[in-house]
Amino acid sequence: MSEIRFRAPRFAPKAGQPFYQELTKRVNAYFEQNNISPKGNAKLYVKTGVLIGGFLAAYLGLVLAAPGFEVAWMLWLALGLLTAAIGFNIMHDGAHGSFSKHNWLNEMAGHSVNFLGASILMWKTKHNTVHHTFTNIEGVDDDIDAGAMLRMAPSQERRGFHRFQHLYFSALYALLYIYWVVYTDYKKYFSGKVGQVPIPKLTRFQHISFWAWKALHLGLFVGLPMWKLGFLPWLGGFMLMGMSAGFVLSIVFQLAHVVTEASFTPYVHGETLETEDEWAIHQIKTTANFATKSRFLTWFLGGLNFQVEHHLFPRISHVHYPDLAKIVKQTCDEFNVTYTEFKTFASAVRSHVQHLRMMGQMA
Ligand SMILES: [Zn+2]
Repeated sequence: MSEIRFRAPRFAPKAGQPFYQELTKRVNAYFEQNNISPKGNAKLYVKTGVLIGGFLAAYLGLVLAAPGFEVAWMLWLALGLLTAAIGFNIMHDGAHGSFSKHNWLNEMAGHSVNFLGASILMWKTKHNTVHHTFTNIEGVDDDIDAGAMLRMAPSQERRGFHRFQHLYFSALYALLYIYWVVYTDYKKYFSGKVGQVPIPKLTRFQHISFWAWKALHLGLFVGLPMWKLGFLPWLGGFMLMGMSAGFVLSIVFQLAHVVTEASFTPYVHGETLETEDEWAIHQIKTTANFATKSRFLTWFLGGLNFQVEHHLFPRISHVHYPDLAKIVKQTCDEFNVTYTEFKTFASAVRSHVQHLRMMGQMA
């Protein structure tokens, strides 16, 4: 059987991009008037030091002091939460090229994901290309494809057990990181695709780098701690680290797009889809903010509670999103575009659970 060629969805080209043009003009003016760089600033670099320092301290505490499990579990949990935080704040900005104006620093920040067990090469296609361009387009956006166990979008097949998915989703979210590290990265590597979308051909150096990082991660997080702590204490700790990282990473990305207020676009593989909205409006209709007044969440989540601004301006560092949000809201008001924001983390979780419940019960 010949393979159906992937045809990328297109964004209402005939309508032009009046909204995005106006918004970009205002955002550029903001940076010019305040004479600041849209990339990371000193605050981000201090946070980078705190997160990486904390991660190294917890890791070295584990493998050098080799404490009993009554102490070690706290270090494993800290490693899990710091894995998520480094992903949100350092890797994510670096991979988007927004961490610094220096490309080598962006590359270094982006490569932190390799150190945490996932490949930057796969991440850039999955996240920067597929998720950011085709947000909530069913069958293309890999973030809303969690396999048969979860039905996240209306065009996905409904199975009987989905009616309980709003009860068991957290257990699956907790497995995301481990699944990613042991399976999905390799699936992407060997198939050369993220879902339907082809990954750019890897150079010989990139192939070597993929495997070298995987080997390093295995040595650092499996081999060495297993040797120092013993098999069962390592297994318990590694699961705790992986599950805490997986749950936090999943829930934060899902709250931004998989809620009752977000829209989903069906797509038929092999056919050309043209969306009704220009790209920027499509991003706003598929994305939500949450808990933007929480100083702790804004710090810890690397601005991913400001996903609307992130999706509109992924190449601007998250440290600027609270200020950009005012400009985006004002422009949405003038263009009559609905801007979705949950006041609290809990209200976003409620909407996510409600969406999962609806998808589990509706045909
Ligand atoms: Zn992103």
